[in-house]
Amino acid sequence: MLTSTTNTAVVAAAAVAVGMVAMVGVVGAKRRRKRPIKLTKDNIQSFMNQIDAVVSDCDGVIWSIGKTAVPNSREAMDCLKAAGKKVLYATNNSVLGPLEKFRRFGYDVKPNEVVHPSMALTSYLKKINFQKKVFVLAVERFKDEMRRGGIRVLPDTKTGTLVEETLESILENIDPDPDVGAVVVDLDINLSYTDLNKAANYLLKPDCRLYAGATDTAVTFDGGRVVVGPGPFLQILEDITGKKAEMFGKPGPLMVTHFLKDEHNLNLHRTVFVGDTLVQDMGVANTCGMVKLLVLTGMTKLRDLNTCPPELIPDYIIDSVGDFVELLKKD
Ligand SMILES: [Mg+2]
Repeated sequence: MLTSTTNTAVVAAAAVAVGMVAMVGVVGAKRRRKRPIKLTKDNIQSFMNQIDAVVSDCDGVIWSIGKTAVPNSREAMDCLKAAGKKVLYATNNSVLGPLEKFRRFGYDVKPNEVVHPSMALTSYLKKINFQKKVFVLAVERFKDEMRRGGIRVLPDTKTGTLVEETLESILENIDPDPDVGAVVVDLDINLSYTDLNKAANYLLKPDCRLYAGATDTAVTFDGGRVVVGPGPFLQILEDITGKKAEMFGKPGPLMVTHFLKDEHNLNLHRTVFVGDTLVQDMGVANTCGMVKLLVLTGMTKLRDLNTCPPELIPDYIIDSVGDFVELLKKD
């Protein structure tokens, strides 16, 4: 089990939203907080009649962030397909190759049925015929995806070597390549201070764009261990340069709308997004007008629904995606 901390801007927005709801409650008539509908044998058919397609997050829904699959998740997706629904996957995790993981767990998933930020961003840059170099603060797998798509990616190799600890040394290492036209921020396990400085200086050029994948502030694992996410580094670059990133990871709509509408021609109002996080998964579903289904096998606890912004409250809830097996069984 793990929990995620979102970036401060989102949290601040959430706090404002909660505050506004509280004010409305005081000033106006008492409004009951929306509650999600739990999927049962009694309502599963009306739920299925609302949708043509199912789009699922991966970490916390299909598998844990470790090595175990959520029980019956593969069988559940097979049941949804057998019921005539298109099944696709959208994850913010570009660190692990989701296709390899699907195969390891015995899923029949094709390359065009899953998307993550590096795929979506590569596809977008090709579509707009982006010719300049892209400076990428992310893991090698993220950069390799972009290179395979024909994007010119920097840095070529890791720049994690120790540099002399003087101001002159920092300045010497800032050597802005005039051909860099964009900076990308995602989880970079070998992030270096030198690269962060380079990214800031590229972004100070007026025409240099800023793109983001995952934006978590931190992920906390059982036992209290915490992993710092890319969100704080993105925030540093935004603060220094005054630029706002175009977000390809959830809850930004770019990845999902491009993948579902442009590549798969789906009607988003008849598509359900299945996820375990409120801000990222329910957030992107809300922004894109999809049906929201929350599972409780990942980051969110039922009690979190009491305090989240109203627009993030799911339409439906289910303990585990594996429960679809039983719910869709013909009696
Ligand atoms: Mg997740």
